[in-house]
Amino acid sequence: MKKIAIVGAGFSGAVIAHELGRTGNYDIDVFDTRAHVAGNCHTERDAETEVMLHVYGPHIFHTSNEKVWKYVQGFDEFMPFTNRVKAVTKGRVFSLPVNLLTINQFFGKTFNPREAEAFLASIGDKSIESPQTFEEQALRFVGKELYEAFFKGYTIKQWGMHPSELPASILKRLPVRFNYDDNYYASKYQGMPRHGYTHIVEKMLDTPNVKVHLQTSFDRSMGEDYAHVFYSGPIDAWFGHCEGRLGYRTLDFAAERHHGDYQGNPVINYGDEDVPWTRISEHKHFSPWETHEKTVIFKEYSRYCEETDTPYYPIRMAKEKSQLKNYIGLAQDEKNVSFVGRLGTYRYLDMHVTIAEALEVAEKFLACEAIGDRLPAFVVDPLG
Ligand code: UDP
Repeated sequence: MKKIAIVGAGFSGAVIAHELGRTGNYDIDVFDTRAHVAGNCHTERDAETEVMLHVYGPHIFHTSNEKVWKYVQGFDEFMPFTNRVKAVTKGRVFSLPVNLLTINQFFGKTFNPREAEAFLASIGDKSIESPQTFEEQALRFVGKELYEAFFKGYTIKQWGMHPSELPASILKRLPVRFNYDDNYYASKYQGMPRHGYTHIVEKMLDTPNVKVHLQTSFDRSMGEDYAHVFYSGPIDAWFGHCEGRLGYRTLDFAAERHHGDYQGNPVINYGDEDVPWTRISEHKHFSPWETHEKTVIFKEYSRYCEETDTPYYPIRMAKEKSQLKNYIGLAQDEKNVSFVGRLGTYRYLDMHVTIAEALEVAEKFLACEAIGDRLPAFVVDPLG
């Protein structure tokens, strides 16, 4: 059997391991430096309260991809869950994403959808024809007041940069709705795994011929022992950071335990710049089918990711993109390595996209194998 190495036991690595392992044709070693699988999706029960914790921050599964939705059901039962986020700004609470209730409450109006749309168009800055930055995108479509209340402070805290320096694409993740739909996501499917994400990843990895090595780092030279390496670690680390470190934001969580219900909602965002945390998540509300007397909350703080910190959000500004380009060039010279996932391709990826791409990588690998071809370094263009 051909030996395969998979670096990283997050969703990318676990899906590829599962798909290759179940063919029965490969002997697969999965390596992860951490003491647990599932990467930043890791969930575990809090010893004191029994609450299921999203250890690296809130992860809500949502997708419009039928194939991915069906695939994940194979590993756990998905419980009904709709993410409804609230936002605190200047001493008041509103509904997110910006919707008709947000607009009416914020401006003290009773607009219907048509009126609200016309109103936002009237307060939007029409002189900005094709918004390039986050700030221009916001000023164009929601106007100065909503931008300053909900987006400006939050974004400065989250990215450590002014929204005028950030690309419009980040804001495009959030819709503006002219109805009372307060579902944070527009995806067709949404849910929370009954037993948590770590359980799913463990099940994926519980496949014949798949061996998991935790707390084990993978050195580039170890690749010689394998027919192919799937690498989901940071792409710059693979090359010893020779083109400089790619910038990330990291998160710190300050956990608190309380009795009862702390905030009455899974996630509340804080738009004011002078409130140091970006959001507070209350984890028992991620499992609304469970009952717990006590509660655990995480106050979430964002900052620049230093060498020994856990990387979360790739910064991807002009400087990082040019570094990334150099790393892509180096990666393409590798013979038997494919770079996958959030860290391997240095992209801001949701779980469902990670899973869809990992399935595609596994399929392409097997198709290449069938005709004696080599899988390229990237199945998805990291700059695309
Ligand atoms: N954002 C914001 N205010 C909010 C929530 C989000 O300005 O209350 C901006 C912020 O820049 C953030 C981006 O929108 O990085 C995407 O938000 P999302 O909630 O998708 O981020 P995630 O949950 O992935 O951290």
